[in-house]
Amino acid sequence: MIDENCIFCKIANGQIPSATVYEDEKFKVILDMGPATRGHALILPKEHFQDVCGLSETYSKDILPLAAKIGCAMMKGLGCDGFNLVQNNGEAAGQTVMHFHMHVIPRYADGPRNIASWEPQSADGEELKVLAEQIKNAF
Ligand code: 5GP
Ligand code: ZN
Repeated sequence: MIDENCIFCKIANGQIPSATVYEDEKFKVILDMGPATRGHALILPKEHFQDVCGLSETYSKDILPLAAKIGCAMMKGLGCDGFNLVQNNGEAAGQTVMHFHMHVIPRYADGPRNIASWEPQSADGEELKVLAEQIKNAF
């Protein structure tokens, strides 16, 4: 299903032009217009899913192999030294476009550095057990 009001539906289905890295029947991979680093790409499914919780298996089974293919091509083609796969779900997690997408962010040894990083917080063993149970019980 496509959402007529969704910018990524329009880009993924060719109604809005984009710098395209890869395309097949299910996905379009484009360059981000506000890149974290040189060559930052976004993998877009051609159907509309709000986030990973709604992503159908038809798409989810192919997304990681595709992300690996794009990241490995970046290492060869752009000469980056590594890459991050980043995928935000919900506004609180930094999602700004409510159409599932995965970021493939090339990383260069000479920077920029502070991308997809966090300050580790402390957690005690008992708390971790309780948290693990809360998640398990919600499957
Ligand atoms: P999010 O924060 O939702 O995980 O990521 C959305 C990303 O989409 C941002 O990095 C933003 O720069 C990018 N973006 C938003 N609108 C457009 C657009 O119209 N074209 C392209 N190429 N990238 C977009
Ligand atoms: Zn959409």
